[in-house]
Amino acid sequence: MTLDKIFTEIDARSELNLEQIEFLLSLQKPEEIEALYKKAYQIKTSVLGKKVYFRGLIEFSNICEKDCLYCGIRKSNKNLERFMMTKEEMLSEARFALENNYGSVVLQSGERTDKYFVDFVENIVREIKNISDGKLGITLCLGEQSEHTYKKWFSAGAHRYLLRIETSNPELYKKIHPPDSSFENRKKCLQILKNCGYQVGTGVMIGIPGQTIHDLASDILFFKDMDVDMIGMGPFIPHKDTPLGKETKIKPEEQLELGLKMIAVTRIYLKDVNIASTTALQALSPTGRELGILAGANIIMPNLTETKYRASYKLYDGKPCLDENSAMCKSCLQKRIEAIGETIAFGEWGDSLHFAKRKECACN
Ligand code: SAH
Ligand code: SF4
Repeated sequence: MTLDKIFTEIDARSELNLEQIEFLLSLQKPEEIEALYKKAYQIKTSVLGKKVYFRGLIEFSNICEKDCLYCGIRKSNKNLERFMMTKEEMLSEARFALENNYGSVVLQSGERTDKYFVDFVENIVREIKNISDGKLGITLCLGEQSEHTYKKWFSAGAHRYLLRIETSNPELYKKIHPPDSSFENRKKCLQILKNCGYQVGTGVMIGIPGQTIHDLASDILFFKDMDVDMIGMGPFIPHKDTPLGKETKIKPEEQLELGLKMIAVTRIYLKDVNIASTTALQALSPTGRELGILAGANIIMPNLTETKYRASYKLYDGKPCLDENSAMCKSCLQKRIEAIGETIAFGEWGDSLHFAKRKECACN
């Protein structure tokens, strides 16, 4: 197997197999890795154009019922102040997104399934739709919920949902989650979300202790099997107050490289899905998110979270931009994206092309 041979197959539109995906993820020579990114970027620009979509990220609460072993806001972590934004605070962030012509917002928080929370989210989704005259697209990233809740939020106006599988290896999943977590239930949630009509995104953490190249290659096949529309994945970064973070040291450059390779191979393999260049990449390198775009991603999520809450929404150590505000994040990101020759598609939802095709197939 050589890189040239695989590139010839990619150009001929043959579907790569697991072995070839593993080969690409294992590339070590800098010139070959560069060629991989270039190939993925070519596919990104030819299928989706030189456009990047912004999703304003509102991390509105760090209260969480779950205890994922890697996450800084897990319920057992007592070293942080818990917060929940008010409706007014969230609306003011949504207004910022609207005034600055972001096509969409993402509402993310710790996982809660109580009635107060479910109603709160339903209400805020309706309000954001109201104040924006339906203009702002809404993505939710609120974990595992019942079908009833997913339907409720969809009816209120949310149309995209992100739920990472974290790893498609059930054994590894078990190791990084508490015993009451279920891989099967997470998978089921992805299916329910699709049935409800959402554009569905999933993703994994890259570079989890014990994760192999075979696991990562299988993750990419999993994305295809689940027929998802969006991918949000990023490097695992230890948090000192978590069981997994305490015992793990990472090499930032290697972790970044693996994250970028995953983006590139996913773009080459899936072509028409939306792929986010996540903040975790920037935590590893100041230019991490631009590198993500140049490796084939097409979505950026500028942080809209009020500065005073940012330090308490630390999923991992070294999270960037904690002392910045939304306006600073916008101008900084805009400059960086334009500097690499990409255009920000202001005012557009930037729905997944894959979703449009999926719907078309279902109608025919
Ligand atoms: N509670 C929701 C949304 C918030 S967590 C949920 O779990 O879906 C969002 C994502 O943050 C998770 O899916 C996980 O992949 C990521 N994350 C958590 N801890 C992390 C860490 N230490 N390093 C990198 N990503 C992490
Ligand atoms: Fe809670 Fe999500 Fe963190 Fe798990 S990953 S502890 S569900 S916020």
